[in-house]
Amino acid sequence: MPYGELLVNQKVGPYETPYKFTSKEQDPETDLTYFGARYYDAALGIWLGVDPLAERYPAMSPFTYVFNNPIRLIDPNGMEVDDIIIEGQKYIPGSSPSAESSDFVKESFAALNEIVNGNNKNASNLVIGLSKNDDIEIELVASNLKTEAQVGLGKINGKDIIRKYQTIYFDTDRGIEEATTGKSLSPDVALVHELGHIQNAIDNPTEFINRKKESDPVWFDLEEKETITKYEIPYASSRNMLQRTSYSSNYKTIKTINSTNALTHKQLDLIVQSILRF
Ligand SMILES: [Zn+2]
Repeated sequence: MPYGELLVNQKVGPYETPYKFTSKEQDPETDLTYFGARYYDAALGIWLGVDPLAERYPAMSPFTYVFNNPIRLIDPNGMEVDDIIIEGQKYIPGSSPSAESSDFVKESFAALNEIVNGNNKNASNLVIGLSKNDDIEIELVASNLKTEAQVGLGKINGKDIIRKYQTIYFDTDRGIEEATTGKSLSPDVALVHELGHIQNAIDNPTEFINRKKESDPVWFDLEEKETITKYEIPYASSRNMLQRTSYSSNYKTIKTINSTNALTHKQLDLIVQSILRF
């Protein structure tokens, strides 16, 4: 291997999952979303010295990487690199997927179009820019557990780089809710958050890594602060949704409606709010 690799898991907030990281949700340490290196353990030393979390994330088995990614790295399924790919389909801003697509593909296209067509230019340009970025391919993978980006990083000749193939696990049904106020974020906001992390790593991989190393009492680390303040909050604000004031306190994941454009923003927000009353 010419270089080692880091995978940095980026998520929107704490998640309640059937696999329960029980009692750890309140523990900020478990929100540490870094884990694992794909090819050799030395890469772990770049961040934490040891990886105390690998065993805590059974859903993120290292085998997943071994079996999934080298294949893609060697044979990137014939797609061009400048793509956002969802189950083999290339997302083009404003486009619709083929009629026979899965619900996940339809909902992902709808969520991306929601962002592109929304009135927050920064988020709109984020999606358009990433869909045209010649250096990066982002695959959205269906999840019924979480929305989370795996930011793949590496080094070439001592220089930090972002890898070509990036993955975002996208739960099109799940948002987060502030426990105290009932204000919420819908799945497309989570997608903006994760795409923001990838853009930040593209913009400057070394600064991205440095921000991940720098913990923050409010925002967990400086990278979370960066993506939440730069991308998430302005977009959430444009959608009249929750503007977070911290990374993890008082938030819980909720099953919400998906991000399809079948509903207007206003209808969507009303439904989200009415769900939250129960
Ligand atoms: Zn994040």
